[in-house]
Amino acid sequence: MRFDVITLFPDMFSAVRDHGITGRAHRQGLWSLRLWNPRDFTHDVHRTVDDRPYGGGPGMVMMAEPLEDAVGAAHAERLAQSGPVAQAGTNIEAESDLPRERLSGSAPVWLMSPTGRRYDQAMAQKLADGPGVILVCGRYEGVDQRFIQRCVTDEVSMGDFVLSGGEIPALAIMDSAVRLLPGALNDRESAFQDSFHDSLTGLLDSPHYTRPERYHGESVPAQLLSGHHANIAIWRRQQSLALTLARRPDLIQAARSQGRLGKADEAFLASLMP
Ligand code: SAH
Repeated sequence: MRFDVITLFPDMFSAVRDHGITGRAHRQGLWSLRLWNPRDFTHDVHRTVDDRPYGGGPGMVMMAEPLEDAVGAAHAERLAQSGPVAQAGTNIEAESDLPRERLSGSAPVWLMSPTGRRYDQAMAQKLADGPGVILVCGRYEGVDQRFIQRCVTDEVSMGDFVLSGGEIPALAIMDSAVRLLPGALNDRESAFQDSFHDSLTGLLDSPHYTRPERYHGESVPAQLLSGHHANIAIWRRQQSLALTLARRPDLIQAARSQGRLGKADEAFLASLMP
């Protein structure tokens, strides 16, 4: 899987490329990262990437052209490195004079934006199953709308809050997808018990405990000490159901409407009702 990231702050991306599970997966060659700075696609001495907003108001807006050229370069390199187009496109330089449509389509282009579709685990899984994505990180007040119309396939939000830039959402997206790549996690780190995962039928994870067995007078739930695997699985499932019902009843509804709750699940949920 390959990520291309359009960003004014490429240094921020060592966070996922060099550290932890995602860093190890990168060293193993499970995914690759290409960073494109819009400043490298400017033509003036000041390397200007932003300007004042038409209509007035505070702040600055990222200009369309450096962004479009950066996205175009990412598409061109992806096309040059993949399949039959690669052989045909030996002079990719000349090709970049062609209409932009000819250079697009190598990958989806996601703009990080609070006005976009809320990112979730299903989107992470879809990403992990595909060839990757071009992520565009906004800064300032945002980006020129005409860039969005011409180059962006999806606008994606990290949640109902506003950050100073799209880099942290892009890092979160990359991390969430990379950890789902086959081989990225070892058995002990398995994603199967994670919240939202299919094997939990989209519910929240159950609580975790480790040593010591007694901590400030609190002991580990007896079921987890029993060594009885079937009972432990039942306990975890019931904890997941109770927690999800309390905190995210929408996820219970979603699992139910997809027919993913069994008889035992429903009976346990009914027992929680007053
Ligand atoms: N004026 C914009 C916010 C700009 S914040 C608005 O109110 O919608 C600057 C940049 O940070 C955005 O262009 C976007 O790329 C990024 N950003 C901020 N919050 C985000 C969020 N919740 N999800 C994804 N990207 C976000």
